[in-house]
Amino acid sequence: MIHQVILKIASRCNLNCSYCYLYNHQDSSWKEQPKFITDHVFDRTLEVIRDYCRRRTAHQVALVFHGGEPTLVGPGRLASLSARAKLVLGRSLASITLQTNGTRLNEEMVDVIARAGISVGFSLDGPAHIHDATRVTHANLGSYSNAILGLERLRHAGIEPAVLCVVNPYVSGEEIYRHFRDIGLRNITFLLPDVSHDHKLSWYSSASSTPVADYLTPVFDSWFRDDDPDVVVRPFTDLIASMMGGNGEGDIFGNPLQTYVMVETDGSIEALDTLRVCYSGITKTKLNVVEHTFDNIQELNPMLHRMINVGFPLCVKCEQCHERAICGGGYLPHRYSRAREFDNPSVWCEDIKSLLQHMRSAIGLMAT
Ligand code: SF4
Ligand code: SF4
Repeated sequence: MIHQVILKIASRCNLNCSYCYLYNHQDSSWKEQPKFITDHVFDRTLEVIRDYCRRRTAHQVALVFHGGEPTLVGPGRLASLSARAKLVLGRSLASITLQTNGTRLNEEMVDVIARAGISVGFSLDGPAHIHDATRVTHANLGSYSNAILGLERLRHAGIEPAVLCVVNPYVSGEEIYRHFRDIGLRNITFLLPDVSHDHKLSWYSSASSTPVADYLTPVFDSWFRDDDPDVVVRPFTDLIASMMGGNGEGDIFGNPLQTYVMVETDGSIEALDTLRVCYSGITKTKLNVVEHTFDNIQELNPMLHRMINVGFPLCVKCEQCHERAICGGGYLPHRYSRAREFDNPSVWCEDIKSLLQHMRSAIGLMAT
């Protein structure tokens, strides 16, 4: 079932991060998208969400303003889009979140975010010398100082963002984690680098054999030693929850059904955005909020239907793996290859095994 709609209100970005799955991997379809969502497409999206919720009992959907960089719409438009979403969706709206690179959060923008009660997801990859090596402007200038200014303005308005950090296999995870603690972050998610089997070598040929585990294991140790219940670090909290028999959040591990869809600035209903690292056009569905509803997904797009309602079976190796209940074969884009589609273990399989084994021994749990 769909619980979240990730809505691209801007398709371009003021940054050009070297690893960006949208602009710098296999897919170039963003070039065909309108730069901004129109009021007509936005309103149709709200109507589709409202009708989807009405057909289900007490169903709510969370809205995520995404991009590109969603703040490119400007503070006035952000305010009007938020107000419109609340008006049309009413009780069907669970929350509004803005996923931002943080570099355009001037006082006016932060004021709109605070007044509208918007939660903030904030991308930050570490201290300046690490962050600025990959998260750069189109003029190749680092973005750390502007991101930190944005973070300070949010905090001044009483907003503590959830920080997303993409694992960079060539730097120290522990240094990044310590920096995050030094600047007072309490909600941190480390994302595994998005890449498919077909392109892993071209991105990470000079990395170690388990670069993600080499990065995350010292982070886990530091976080575990800190033992601060107010600091949530994913994926560790989710993985520990799964190890203890509960459910972790998120779609990276456990092979869960997808609970969200993406809507592009032209109204296209698309599949998991990060699949763009697989090949150009993979996320296309021929569905559009102007003509279709989310209930048309089943009849009109087998792949998206499978992601949301059916799921993908694990490959033979994952089926036989003692970590399958926790790992679930890894994130879909990381499972993909041209030759076998999603019938592969994750490109980060050895990293995941190593990390899980380390975590289990640190917290004194046996493998099931
Ligand atoms: S800020 Fe996000 S959308 Fe923009 S280039 Fe960087 S990773 Fe891509
Ligand atoms: S650790 Fe590797 S083999 Fe095991 S479930 Fe995960 S991806 Fe599959």
